[in-house]
Amino acid sequence: MNAPALPPSAEERARQIRCVIFDIDGVMTDCKLYLTHDGEEIKAVNVRDGLGIKLLMKNGIEVAVISGRPSVAMQKRLEFLDVKHIWLNTEDKLPAYRKLLDTVGISDAQCAHMGDDVPDLPLFLRVGLALAPGDAHPKAKAAAHWISQARGGDGAIREAVDFILACQGKD
Ligand SMILES: [Mg+2]
Repeated sequence: MNAPALPPSAEERARQIRCVIFDIDGVMTDCKLYLTHDGEEIKAVNVRDGLGIKLLMKNGIEVAVISGRPSVAMQKRLEFLDVKHIWLNTEDKLPAYRKLLDTVGISDAQCAHMGDDVPDLPLFLRVGLALAPGDAHPKAKAAAHWISQARGGDGAIREAVDFILACQGKD
């Protein structure tokens, strides 16, 4: 009798990836919001993470962002980075995810998602590769196939990009 097949490793999963979805708060940022007297929200992004996003696209891997919160500044930042698939103010991430797969023409196994909290779990259950920053909520970390050393907003995206590209023999 054959031994039961082992589940695929994170490296094997990463080799299939043709599109990576990123959450914003806690992934592209450190999860903090600075609130001004005018009620505006200020958040910081990491420039090396931004370069990681560009590197993915340069290597033919699509990038998407699905976030539960609205942000004019983040919309501008993502457009500056040439990210084509942007859903902000989208609390239920599944319909956006389904539309993305349709638009790009890929399967679940060819999609990765990096998220840090419970709203990311529905996508974690479907994508081929679920990625979490090192300081993600324990439930997100428990469901992830791969966890970065770096914290959200502080290099987690770049580390994930380097991992995926290395698994695919690209840089
Ligand atoms: Mg988040």
